Amino acid sequence: MNRFTRTLAATLGTVALLAATGASAADYPDHAISVVVPFAAGGPTDTVARNLAQAMATNMGQGIVVENKGGAGGTIGTSFVARAPADGYTLLLMHVGFSTAPSLYKKPGYDPYTSFEPIGLIVDVPMTVLARSDFPPKDISELAAYVKANASKITLANAGIGAASHLCGVMLNEAFGVNLLTVPYKGTAPAMNDLLSKQVDMLCDQTTNTTQQIRAKTVKAYAVTSLTRVPTLPGLPTMDESGFKGFQVGIWHGLWAPKGTPKPVIDKLVKSLQTALADPKFQNSMQQLGTTVLASEANPEALQAKVKQQVPQWAELFKKAGVQPQ
Ligand code: ASP
Repeated sequence: MNRFTRTLAATLGTVALLAATGASAADYPDHAISVVVPFAAGGPTDTVARNLAQAMATNMGQGIVVENKGGAGGTIGTSFVARAPADGYTLLLMHVGFSTAPSLYKKPGYDPYTSFEPIGLIVDVPMTVLARSDFPPKDISELAAYVKANASKITLANAGIGAASHLCGVMLNEAFGVNLLTVPYKGTAPAMNDLLSKQVDMLCDQTTNTTQQIRAKTVKAYAVTSLTRVPTLPGLPTMDESGFKGFQVGIWHGLWAPKGTPKPVIDKLVKSLQTALADPKFQNSMQQLGTTVLASEANPEALQAKVKQQVPQWAELFKKAGVQPQ
């Protein structure tokens, strides 16, 4: 095939796909788009998705519906989108867990490199180390000693293996030299409910879900997981400055479409994402929840590069920590 026939074949492929899916890139989107969040409603990823959906819907002139498909650390919802029609009407909003699941599950249900078309990065969210409001330790150093002395009695909630709360829990266990009993949920929204009602003792969760509870003192907050303090929670020390050198976990979020989604559709989504991230209303609501908006990385190349860098990095970390895929 020469260059001309190759281009022609690629174009015909796109046309065939558009015909098969009944879509026309020129008309896209002509009905509501669904964004799948692979965690429970009302949680941190859901909060990012609902803010983004509103901003993208405004600039696209079409409704965007958030669908929650929680379970198995986000792999159920993620693999659902991997199998969805590649027509631009079913998208995935997922976080760092996209790149950890392939080394934590024997069958995650998707391939991080081949199952999706990347659209772009969205936000980076720090995490907070929390306990129920009546937990005895007063600060992070007391917490470390208390957890060590009472390890067999303490429960740590998370959103399933591979979720951000699980990753942070693995790091906390290592930092404190313990192995706490974990209680999995379909997202940290229900985990937070159980922390508030004191059914579980501890939770490490993103500021998108914890800022309001920390301010209202309905939970006890000990530290943030970013290397610098979070401007919206200035009283909370970092883990790093509290003696846990190098303890850092930031939860980057991205937007994907199923593999094979036509390029003109992806181009429209990229433009819409970039416009949404430049929207002062979106920026403001995200910044108030302690996140960093990744406007300059809201493109397919940046998200692809992120995944390429993160998958082997996490695989290495789990290997070192002796975590086996299940
Ligand atoms: N992001 C998840 C949620 O929205 C929680 C997690 O990853 O820990 O519930």
